[in-house]
Amino acid sequence: MRAMYFEAFEATPDVRTLPDPTPTEGGVVIKVEATGLCRSDWHGWMGHDPDIRLPHVPGHELAGKVVAVGKGVRRFREGQRVTVPFVSGCGHCGECRSGNQQVCEEQFQPGFTHWGSFAEYVAIDYADQNLVHLPEAIDYATAASLGCRFATSFRAVVDQARVTGGEWVAVHGCGGVGLSAIMIAAALGANPVAIDISDEKLDFARKMGAVATINARDVADVADAVRDITGGGAHASVDALGSPVTCFNSIKNLRRRGRHVQVGLMLADHAAPQIPMAQVIGHELEIYGSHGMQAWRYDAMLAMIESGKLAPQNLIGRHISLDEAVPALMAMDKATDLGISVITRF
Ligand SMILES: [Zn+2]
Ligand SMILES: [Zn+2]
Repeated sequence: MRAMYFEAFEATPDVRTLPDPTPTEGGVVIKVEATGLCRSDWHGWMGHDPDIRLPHVPGHELAGKVVAVGKGVRRFREGQRVTVPFVSGCGHCGECRSGNQQVCEEQFQPGFTHWGSFAEYVAIDYADQNLVHLPEAIDYATAASLGCRFATSFRAVVDQARVTGGEWVAVHGCGGVGLSAIMIAAALGANPVAIDISDEKLDFARKMGAVATINARDVADVADAVRDITGGGAHASVDALGSPVTCFNSIKNLRRRGRHVQVGLMLADHAAPQIPMAQVIGHELEIYGSHGMQAWRYDAMLAMIESGKLAPQNLIGRHISLDEAVPALMAMDKATDLGISVITRF
């Protein structure tokens, strides 16, 4: 198979021919039809993720067709269209048994713990517990865009922040995660406020459902600006970027008993950000993480997509080739693209 491959962190990956994967007893091999390019792939390539063992094939947001099935797999067979959450649970640890596969103790993550989907084929373990049947109405590129950012935002907004109609939801950072969170919050009847440093991204955020926008470069204090717009602070707030500044502002801009959800990754130098803890205590704020979404929760998200309430296809920017993905991956930390880049040519 053709695959993107690197032997050292921060070294330019190359696209080369590698042996085709074979399924484990409980796993499948998927012919990758589409796979999204994500900032987490850049973190992995930089060496920020301790799960990655070199040499490595990145890629964790994928959709495709099952082409080989391990002998222990019951629910899936060759030819079926599928996608998979980027955190796949083992199915038998305590977290998996309680339905929280997204924090499984023995998780399988394509593109992190194992070789990923920047390749013609990818092997996925724990298939019965994690694969998601893809409705015919949802194309592969759209399905790939769900694998990480959209699903994580769905869990962040719906399950962690428990956003309801009429609430104010601040979203810090209007990349793939932020735009997803805005679209999902708007679909729930909430009022999303988008914050970014790019007017172009803020215009796009309005098209995705933001009712107000703040360019962080144009205001003295982002939290004050959110408080002004929302009449006292956001009910829920998402740091969709992952930086000490956006994390701090996302907590600071909450009203009393508000909920902050950290979705943007905080790795390396950013792993221990400053938190306004006096406000957390005095105002009884809630702070959550959101780390992927369980396969069994995909049904709710897919139903909202099939009914047209959510349109993740609108978040897709460019369709690119595997070769074009090499420079795109290396420049991911400074990406100015509107929307998600998806590899659809291998
Ligand atoms: Zn588990
Ligand atoms: Zn991702």
